[in-house]
Amino acid sequence: MDCGRYYDKAYGIVGEYPLKPWDFIRLERTFAHILKEGKLHDAGCGVGHWLEFLDRRTELELSGSDVSPDALGKATKNLKGKGINLVLSDVRKLRYKDNEFDQTTALEVIEHVPEWEKSVLEMIRITRKRVVITVPYNERLSYGDCPRCGKEIFIDGHLHKFNEGDFLKFGRYGKVSFEKIYHPYKLKDFLRRGRRMFFEGKKVSEEKGKDGEIKLKVICQNCYWEKGYRGHFLRTINRIKKILFRKPEHLLVRIDLKDRNS
Ligand SMILES: [Zn+2]
Repeated sequence: MDCGRYYDKAYGIVGEYPLKPWDFIRLERTFAHILKEGKLHDAGCGVGHWLEFLDRRTELELSGSDVSPDALGKATKNLKGKGINLVLSDVRKLRYKDNEFDQTTALEVIEHVPEWEKSVLEMIRITRKRVVITVPYNERLSYGDCPRCGKEIFIDGHLHKFNEGDFLKFGRYGKVSFEKIYHPYKLKDFLRRGRRMFFEGKKVSEEKGKDGEIKLKVICQNCYWEKGYRGHFLRTINRIKKILFRKPEHLLVRIDLKDRNS
């Protein structure tokens, strides 16, 4: 899969997706696992939200990479004047030396990458001390058939679902630990928000079709065809179910690496 091509299209559709209050809570939880000095690399930095957050809070020497030229252009603008080095690079083959960074992060990145294990190994390779990854937890993947090539299209671009067991294999490189991150919203908050989004069509990525129905665009991972999507209702139900049953929204994976020089 040509992730650069796919994510250029995807960023063209979703734009900068400004952070919502819940995203900040998630970033705060992730921040608790970050070493507060040295060099940090953010792989799959997107438009640079996490790097901006870290720049405000720390003296860390920051850098980022992303596979999408479009996202990287937006990140360059967002992080202007902060001295953060940004590089166009695929997380499956990072353009950095072994042990170049003290820590590497990838927030909601590897669920989008076909060879996710290879990406984690690449992150481990360039890192001396700690790798921090967040992914959706035990997600129900949604997909449909592409009308053009007939292959499966994964809505949201999420190709894999994860739980703790998927990461235990990296125990040979260091100590693997986990934190489950729960959605802070109560059901009533979510319903209020969902209703507003649904009826007022507030979301940037939505557009109205001829029949007036709100459509969301999805992109085929195989032929990069764009297609309208009508599965909002099902997604909303799945989300509400997660909140009702107190299912974690994200899984944070932290790998404290063994010292490879000793
Ligand atoms: Zn297709």
